[in-house]
Amino acid sequence: MTPARANAEHAQRCFRGNTEVAADPGRVNRSPLRALVVEDEVDLADVLGRMLTLEGWDTRTAQNGNAAIRMAKANPPDVVVLDVMLPDMTGLQVLRHLRAASPGACVLFLTARDSVEDRVAGITAGADDYLTKPFAMEELLARLRGLVRRSGLLKPSEQNALVVGDLVMDEEAREVSRRDVPIDLTVTEFELLRFLMRNPRRVLSKSQILDRVWSYDFGGDAHVVELYISYLRRKVDRDRSPMIHTVRGVGYVLKPA
Ligand code: CA
Repeated sequence: MTPARANAEHAQRCFRGNTEVAADPGRVNRSPLRALVVEDEVDLADVLGRMLTLEGWDTRTAQNGNAAIRMAKANPPDVVVLDVMLPDMTGLQVLRHLRAASPGACVLFLTARDSVEDRVAGITAGADDYLTKPFAMEELLARLRGLVRRSGLLKPSEQNALVVGDLVMDEEAREVSRRDVPIDLTVTEFELLRFLMRNPRRVLSKSQILDRVWSYDFGGDAHVVELYISYLRRKVDRDRSPMIHTVRGVGYVLKPA
């Protein structure tokens, strides 16, 4: 399967998997956040656009630099997801124009290249954060929420940690505790728990979890979900009332003990 085809199929799965997500997107002045996705891989742009729309953001997508600059001038975005490699210009060039049009926008770069030089060049050119492709959707959303939170665009009530029962997650500090006892998690365990905590009392299927927590170039074996759920249980539920429950034949649910 070609990478583009794999991305497209992932995009479809992700979209179906995300229909349950509906965070409160309201900002201080209560209008929805405006997001601009600049990505020339059509299917990836499409799924990113729909995912951010489901997140409650007023989302537009552009497939090249010129269209992005035009849209940003007509409708200055709060948040921009910007691919580094575009057909008509580089992401860095787009960024300079965007900064002129909307100096306050939070910009997250998507780069296919995992080189230090690209990251340094991107950040010095004014990007606020970057993510290397392939990435997990949950990671992208978390980064964007983090940027928005730090920018002060959201209502103060949204700046709190994630809390489910006696389980608390500070997404910024990447700290988790239960009854004030710190819990050490690996990166993947943390992303899995974050997705569960963002959807408390909601049954999540293995494929929904796979789409959101694992990168889209991951093979897609649902057994890895079972494995990581077992790791999480050992850390979160051991010697305590269980919070992570199996719903036979469906998936998993996290709820207060
Ligand atoms: Ca590209």
